[in-house]
Amino acid sequence: MLSIDSVSYRYRSAATPALQGVSLNIPAGGVYGLLGPNGAGKTTLISLLAGLLSATDGRITLRDQPLAAVRAANPRAIALVPQDYAFYPMLSVGENLRFFAGVLGLKGKELHSQCAAAIAFARLEQVTDKRAEQLSGGLRRRLNLAIGLLGRPQLLLLDEPTVGVDPQSRHFLLDSIAALPAAGTTVIYTSHYMEEVEAICQQIAIIDQGSVLAAGSLADILRSAEPLLELHLAQPLPDALASRHQAVATTPLHYLLKPPHGNASWAGALPRLLDELAMAGCEVLDLNLGQHDLEQVFMRLTKRSLRD
Ligand code: ATP
Repeated sequence: MLSIDSVSYRYRSAATPALQGVSLNIPAGGVYGLLGPNGAGKTTLISLLAGLLSATDGRITLRDQPLAAVRAANPRAIALVPQDYAFYPMLSVGENLRFFAGVLGLKGKELHSQCAAAIAFARLEQVTDKRAEQLSGGLRRRLNLAIGLLGRPQLLLLDEPTVGVDPQSRHFLLDSIAALPAAGTTVIYTSHYMEEVEAICQQIAIIDQGSVLAAGSLADILRSAEPLLELHLAQPLPDALASRHQAVATTPLHYLLKPPHGNASWAGALPRLLDELAMAGCEVLDLNLGQHDLEQVFMRLTKRSLRD
């Protein structure tokens, strides 16, 4: 549906490009996750898709049409819910929705029905007369999302929509977002919370320093990961073993290890490693072979944590 082909972008004042040669194919009808740490380039990519920036190089098409043409034909086709709150704090929830519905060109019955649908979707019924500045962080995020849905977009761009919300609101937001494709909206979802991406995205791209490191279905990305051994030790991993297994410390005394010498499996190597740890007086508290989450995949690809 959405094709991003060799796209690069450099901010005028920046020494290096924020995006370099990004290519992605985003299918219709799902939630597509863009996962990356702070500064990876997620907001820049979302801004290109939203038409707020123009790519320095490359091409972006929606159903084989350049995005500008799609927007010209239907200004409501693509909606952005930005990271910052995008509403008027002194207006009430209802006034904000009616104002932004008007900006989209909605009128009369359609305006009222779309505002009512957005209020119902984001469960804002109890606060429609409340000024936006008086809402909690979670309700502000819900209002941001509701405004993005007013034009019933084909493509909804969500830039870190759960930042700063309590766990209950986060669950509500995630469940709501996961339900959008069934109502005909394809969602692109940026986050640096891998558990959110794992929970609601069918396809993902891992982005770091302006480049795509891995892209595909969540299952494929987790499956294609190397056979890593996760160790929790009582003492630090000896340097020689850390070097032989290219160990990465995920948290103090937790390590991810590769099989030695580029081996594809741990057959034979695991008993030797356990013997060597015992001889070094290094007690193994826990051990986990071959089960990966996105955080681990990200660490192996970048040697850094998503939250560095
Ligand atoms: P975050 O999760 O913190 O929002 P991000 O993945 O969205 O990060 P971007 O905001 O797209 O990352 O930033 C990508 C790179 O571009 C970063 O190095 C950032 O410092 C740089 N950058 C972003 N906006 C500008 C700007 N207006 N001028 C110059 N450089 C910028």
